[in-house]
Amino acid sequence: MSLPPWCPPYTARKKSPVTGEEVYCICKKTDSGELMVGCDGCDDWFHFSCLKIPDKYKELVFSFYCPYCQAGITGVGPVQERRTIWKRKCRLSGCFKPCRDASKYCSEEHGEQYMKQALARLQVKGRTRNEQELLVKRMLESSHDFQTFGQHPFADEPAVRQEDPSLYDTIVCEDQRLQELQQNHKELQEQTIPSITKALESLRTYKQWLDDVNNKLLAAKGDSLANDTRQTKKTNGKKQKTTICGYYTHWEALPCTPDDLVAQFNTTIPAINGVCTKINCHKHANWSTITADQLANQLRSLQAHDDRLRLLINTRKEQLMIQFYERSLLKN
Ligand SMILES: [Zn+2]
Ligand SMILES: [Zn+2]
Ligand SMILES: [Zn+2]
Ligand SMILES: [Zn+2]
Repeated sequence: MSLPPWCPPYTARKKSPVTGEEVYCICKKTDSGELMVGCDGCDDWFHFSCLKIPDKYKELVFSFYCPYCQAGITGVGPVQERRTIWKRKCRLSGCFKPCRDASKYCSEEHGEQYMKQALARLQVKGRTRNEQELLVKRMLESSHDFQTFGQHPFADEPAVRQEDPSLYDTIVCEDQRLQELQQNHKELQEQTIPSITKALESLRTYKQWLDDVNNKLLAAKGDSLANDTRQTKKTNGKKQKTTICGYYTHWEALPCTPDDLVAQFNTTIPAINGVCTKINCHKHANWSTITADQLANQLRSLQAHDDRLRLLINTRKEQLMIQFYERSLLKN
């Protein structure tokens, strides 16, 4: 690299011929307290002003090489490696402090300010000031409380997408993890939960059918008892159980009409059309209640799973949305 046009030719002079004081920089002047930077190649010092570097960059110099070292006139080591390296500047415009460690900002305050400015520039429709503040807070939080984060639906997605549809689709819509979660959620919503709900409904319908059967059997028995007064006397006062068990494994569909079953009913046969017709059946005691409870429990745990999936989807969307904001801001 040759010397820049504003740089005078090199001279090895280190002291003022007049005063004998040490001189520095390309200007060969004494130290007047003006801002200077040390060269990593030759150990000389250089004025920011002489190098045409604004003073405000003073905290951003990581490794500096003077024009003479860069031109290969002074210094040691490979010339191509003599490059001034700058620290990453805080992303907030007007701040010339270096970024703190892995952050993109010099401080938390500037990170917050940057996000606020960025959001103000985006002017996403339909989002209230409070929501913006919340978003800023969320963007800055590095560790989230999983229980509360993502519980609220994210800001108006179509409005956000309008900002940059193709970038939005690339980052948000085509995200594999999000697609996976949404697919799982879809299956749960459209298949698993409806199938359990339907089973519960079928069981309820079957129990209704069984009640009908038992009422009809009771009515039929009442008729026969009415015709035989001696038997009425005999059974009076006895709390005899008169309902059939009704245990049936295919209750998703009804076995026959109640009348069909009543017509075939006979205490000597244990089952009709697969329906257990025993009275005082111990084997299947409370079978319908137990089955209904099991289904209800299953439904509850599926709904809890559904809640969790929604939460994961929202959290993932928020992560992607932040990526989207970051990327769209970098582009602008
Ligand atoms: Zn100078
Ligand atoms: Zn140098
Ligand atoms: Zn800053
Ligand atoms: Zn039974």
